[in-house]
Amino acid sequence: MKSLWNDKEASQYNDDLGLRVYTSRLLGLDASLVLHGGGNTSVKITENDIFDEPQKLLYVKGSGWDLETIDRPGFAPVDLDHLIKLAELPVLSDPDMVNELRTNMTNASAPTPSVEAILHATLPFKFVDHTHADAIVTITNNADGKKRIEEIYGDRVVIIDYIMPGFDLARVCAKQFAEQAHDKTEGMVLLNHGIFSFADTAQESYERMISLVNEAEEYLKTQNAWDYPQNKSVSLDSNAGNKIDNRIAIAQLRQAVSSVAGCPMILSADNSEKMLSFAQQENILQLAKQGPATPDHVIRTKQFPMLGRDVDAYVEEYKGYFEKHASHSKDKKTMLDPAPRVIIDPEIGVVGVGKTAKDAKIVTDIYDHTVDVISRATLLGGYQALPGQDIFDMEYWVLEQAKLKKSGNSPEFTGEIVLVTGGYSGIGKACVDAMMKNGAAVVALDINPGIENLYVSPNYLGLICDVTDEDQLCECLSQAVTAFGGLDMVVLNAGMFPGGCAISEMTTELWKKVMAVNLDANLALLREAYPLLKLSPKNGRVSVVGSKNVPAPGPGAAAYSASKAALTQLSRITAMEWGKDGIRINIVHPDAVFDTGIWTDEVLQARAKHYGMTVQEYKTKNILKTEISSNDVAQLVVATCSHLFAKTTAAQIPIDGGNDRVI
Ligand code: ZN
Repeated sequence: MKSLWNDKEASQYNDDLGLRVYTSRLLGLDASLVLHGGGNTSVKITENDIFDEPQKLLYVKGSGWDLETIDRPGFAPVDLDHLIKLAELPVLSDPDMVNELRTNMTNASAPTPSVEAILHATLPFKFVDHTHADAIVTITNNADGKKRIEEIYGDRVVIIDYIMPGFDLARVCAKQFAEQAHDKTEGMVLLNHGIFSFADTAQESYERMISLVNEAEEYLKTQNAWDYPQNKSVSLDSNAGNKIDNRIAIAQLRQAVSSVAGCPMILSADNSEKMLSFAQQENILQLAKQGPATPDHVIRTKQFPMLGRDVDAYVEEYKGYFEKHASHSKDKKTMLDPAPRVIIDPEIGVVGVGKTAKDAKIVTDIYDHTVDVISRATLLGGYQALPGQDIFDMEYWVLEQAKLKKSGNSPEFTGEIVLVTGGYSGIGKACVDAMMKNGAAVVALDINPGIENLYVSPNYLGLICDVTDEDQLCECLSQAVTAFGGLDMVVLNAGMFPGGCAISEMTTELWKKVMAVNLDANLALLREAYPLLKLSPKNGRVSVVGSKNVPAPGPGAAAYSASKAALTQLSRITAMEWGKDGIRINIVHPDAVFDTGIWTDEVLQARAKHYGMTVQEYKTKNILKTEISSNDVAQLVVATCSHLFAKTTAAQIPIDGGNDRVI
């Protein structure tokens, strides 16, 4: 681990808060220091208040901000003297503490200050940095962790036995720091939790963090506890040779987990060699059941992972865990949903489970570091996480429970997965966009390589695919299931319009080409998607982009009209065959959608001229005299997949502004 401090970069920040932003981001860049909202930093600044009187403030990281991307508004300014006074109280409940933090800010729109704010306030240095560094939690999650920390740092750090984050931790740290710190003190190690560094400049505080953590990493290396063996033997992917079964196995797992959670969940599988080797270890049961590396992780990962795929057995185990520990808690607790958040399976690897793709991905990221910590701690002498009761108290911490409850009112497709063909442009792109806005994880296929980078979001997987190639389609389904856990909705959109061509001129080759894209590819995708749609927690849905040409064909578009008519008929029969599985399929028939790639200004002008119209007249030549956009069609596609169409299947809905030939 190296210091990333750069004088030139730092010189762009000419005030204390700016430098606080800069070095916080440097910490955030290293995932072995802080991960997804973990860790926090602060700076003490004196500012003039509204009466022009100086006021001492603690600018501390606000909740909801990640160090990697934090900016000035991410730091909450709190009255420093008030915080120091709070630390002297004998007791303060956690909700009361949060109330004090929020009501003593000088900016009403600042985020809620970190629950570690009081601890930051009591450390008598301008800059304070706090991380949950992997190396520190590796060493302290050991039977003789404290002894090893003393061995590494001598009396250069103050050592605090484990206490759950919150007011008690702040009070104890303030007291012990005051008693033990001296002019050679560089940091404070919180056993089973993390490390603090501090100094009067941003650079020194940051570089102390780096050098303290470096010492811990070097220690692990000298103890031969850094590199650990990775030997994977089998994976579901390579072994079975039958990718369909593998897809179904994961989708079945998702269905079972969603049923326990009470809502659709995203499963993000990590089948890297590292994760598979870990999952295949003989003593995995003993290793993985011990608990998380730092209490900060337990909110996302729960106390222990599920091993294998028996969700019912896990639920029983979790209920037992809850009953055992809840009876020792001082407050009455209600059980959180008993669905696992981490699944470890020797063939699938490590699976993160979350209500959104982002949450599921955070879980696999956290577990990637947990694997490092457990594996190295094992080499060091044995991984030993906190006692179960401490982890339970953290998992059921009143503040954390309040946070979980707040996350209500999510978009309709949260936790669901949709596949859109032809997603790179036009109606397909608008569907991708609309589905993401409605909370779905989207798998977008397109022959255009630009599809891979159309969006950068944990909710998005763009895959290059020629939909007429069945092998490519199957590979895309496998990747979709690995990334998100299954499939709930399919939007059959990819299609081609070959341009005007009279039947007398039509080559068989062109006819076949149009049929291959507009019809045959959809049969193959429907067939391959069927077993996955059957396993959808909220019932599978298919939305088909047809065409006005189905009810009202026009001369010169024989191949296009025939292919879309056949696709419509295919969809109607699909509705009949799959209704027993709760899967519904509806068809939208758009007309005159001009905001797509093929309709350039020149083409529009030429067509308008052909009809003796202005471009605007041409665009709105329908009963309602209205323009139809790709987004309008996408909104209708979304509606057909939503609760609005829960009791409708095989409907054909025009979106054409009204057409007297269709009416
Ligand atoms: Zn912490």
